[in-house]
Amino acid sequence: MPKSGKWWIAAGAGGLLLAFAPFLAVDQALRFYVERQAQSRLDGLASSALGLVEMRLEQATTTLVDLGAMRVDQCGPEALASMRRAVFATNPLKELSILDASRRTLCTHFGIFAEERTLSRELNLSSRRLSLAMVRFRDRPERALQLRLERAGGGSIAALVPDDALLPEASQEETNGSRRLRLTLDGGEVIAARPDGEEGGSFDEEGSLAARRHSERFPISVDAERGRGTIAEEYRDILLIGRLGASVVTAFALIFVGLSIPRERNDPAVELKRAIANGEIIPFYQPLVDLKTGQIHGAEVLARWRRPDGALIPPVRFIPLAEESGLIYDMTRVLMRRARDEMGALYGARPRIKIGFNLFAGHFSDGRIVADVKEIFGGSPIAFDQIVLEVTERSPLADLAEARQVIAALQALGCQVGIDDVGTGHGGLSYLLKLGVDLIKIDKMFVDALGTERYSQTIIETLAELARNMKIEVVAEGVETFEQVEYLRAKDIRIAQGYVFAPPLPGSSYAALLEAMEKPRSAIVPTPLFAQRAS
Ligand code: C2E
Ligand code: CA
Ligand code: CA
Repeated sequence: MPKSGKWWIAAGAGGLLLAFAPFLAVDQALRFYVERQAQSRLDGLASSALGLVEMRLEQATTTLVDLGAMRVDQCGPEALASMRRAVFATNPLKELSILDASRRTLCTHFGIFAEERTLSRELNLSSRRLSLAMVRFRDRPERALQLRLERAGGGSIAALVPDDALLPEASQEETNGSRRLRLTLDGGEVIAARPDGEEGGSFDEEGSLAARRHSERFPISVDAERGRGTIAEEYRDILLIGRLGASVVTAFALIFVGLSIPRERNDPAVELKRAIANGEIIPFYQPLVDLKTGQIHGAEVLARWRRPDGALIPPVRFIPLAEESGLIYDMTRVLMRRARDEMGALYGARPRIKIGFNLFAGHFSDGRIVADVKEIFGGSPIAFDQIVLEVTERSPLADLAEARQVIAALQALGCQVGIDDVGTGHGGLSYLLKLGVDLIKIDKMFVDALGTERYSQTIIETLAELARNMKIEVVAEGVETFEQVEYLRAKDIRIAQGYVFAPPLPGSSYAALLEAMEKPRSAIVPTPLFAQRAS
């Protein structure tokens, strides 16, 4: 069935969608990949920053414990010298100091202590003797962590680790603000941040990736964060290449869709299949006339393809394709059903009238056609004994034994089976004898040659004689002149078909002819069709 405009639009839209699917899929996958990459880098950054803080605080703790063991407890010259050495030897230490029992600074490793500073709430570490606090200086922007070790005899020693030593060097990302790193003390106090001065910056803005690590040894955590916009920027090249690749795939898909739509459209088998489904293959009926009585003997169904624009395509243009593609089976069923529906009532009332269908060799290689005939005509007004099935002699039957079984099964139903185009094909007379058919149709070629070529007369006479002996009915095809009619009748050939009587007719014309010529159930004396001429 040819698809409507809407169908093609829908198909085109579907195709486009399919074509863009790879692009969208690759793009999604890339975004996902890039985000995962960025997240894992952020996780790595937070972990390594935390590692650095822990290492610094570990170093300070070791120094304090070492000094405690040296019993540095008063601000004497010896104690100061030890503390200076320790500050010098321990890289991140800015200051060591001795505190009294009420945590007032007695002295630093410089000596006197005069600076004003404030401390955050002190947090005890797991060792109990150690505590951690944040220190702000009165007139300097830096901050530091103070690690304090309680001494057994009262008082304590403290070490200051400056904020700068606690975070890694600012990378380019942190300098340009695309990534932020922050160190906080439990309780929320910010110890250090990158970029500098971003302590108060929000870390939970929308559209950003974040990673947080908390230390198991110190009450400290690290937050790392970056905006999604800057991620896209960083992975621009990967995204670009990926999208380019996806575009190429999409382009190919589009080209394929573009090519396949017209190809589908031009594929004749697809077209024919649609035509069959769409009811464009219709039966025409060519009357067969009884030369003895002049009455209508029946009709042969001949396929026509009526296109939606009204054009009528003859069977030579699509039957070979239908046979090659196997569509012929469907087509034959469609024609049989349609003929049954169109002619059922008329035929039901005229049980003597026959209807013939053309089958091809493939129909005789299995029992499908028997089942089809049963299914289509069983219980219909058209009786099986009104049905004639023709098979052409032009192309050979593949399996004669099988063909004979199929023919026998059709005959068992009551159908007649005939051989078409007799004299043109492969079978020869042996065919007729082996297959056990009920009728033969003498090809137009011999009918045409009547009166001009002597052998033609001989062939027809021989066939007529043979048929008489075998009790087979003879039909002459392609009868175009009254001379031919006369000759055939003289040779006792009873049935003829040809333009001299009627061409293949549309269903309505054949129905009208039947109604006019053949009274239902032959109630009244039949009107001979060619009474004057034929006598
Ligand atoms: P066919 O079965 O031998 O059908 C007779 C053909 O001769 C028909 O051609 C008919 O129109 C044409 N014809 C009838 N009387 C005359 C006449 O007096 N003079 C001339 N010149 N031609 C006449 P059509 O309808 O074109 O069919 C051609 C062939 O296509 C058929 O030959 C048949 O082999 C095949 N065909 C038609 N319908 C079907 C079908 O439903 N199934 C199969 N398998 N084949 C079909
Ligand atoms: Ca035929
Ligand atoms: Ca024929």
